[in-house]
Amino acid sequence: MSFGAPTSPTLAYLLLGSNLGNRAALLAAARQELATTAGDIVAQSGLYETAAWGRENQPAFLNQALAVRTWLRPEELLAACQAAEQQAGRRRVEQWGSRTLDVDILFHGRQVIESPDLTIPHPRLPERRFALVPLAEIAKALRHPQLGLTVTELLAHCPDPLPVRPWPGELGA
Ligand code: AMP
Repeated sequence: MSFGAPTSPTLAYLLLGSNLGNRAALLAAARQELATTAGDIVAQSGLYETAAWGRENQPAFLNQALAVRTWLRPEELLAACQAAEQQAGRRRVEQWGSRTLDVDILFHGRQVIESPDLTIPHPRLPERRFALVPLAEIAKALRHPQLGLTVTELLAHCPDPLPVRPWPGELGA
């Protein structure tokens, strides 16, 4: 069996998040970086604001979903996402703590991966309205390869009570 380079690109979906500093500018810089390192951004949602999930005594997050046509394998895409986080000066202080930039891989085509470093589809997607709402804007008919539900259906079943509001500010530089 050959493990050579992929012969065709994959459509991957990412979720960007920021709740520190100039959030919109950080997301804009992350889009620019990922367009260079990860692949062509073929769709992007608007920005949405959500109260911090998990720990509610911290600033609200801005989130955005991206569709990226990528030649990278999942673990290479994770490295590109983590490099973008580092570029934004992220310090990993505590789980679900404040961060200048968080980049999660939601889907990588229809691949299912469960390794120590990477779980795809993202395991917490079905329970996070802040991820499903932006994703639905760009991929409402996308079907979860394990659950068999579309993004619209996942959203209808999502138990997360936190409101996710379209953010009225500028998209950033
Ligand atoms: P967090 O602090 O929430 O950004 O979690 C980052 C860690 O989650 C990294 O060490 C990754 O190895 C791991 N991880 C597992 N699955 C994913 C995924 N689908 N997208 C991004 N990070 C992931």
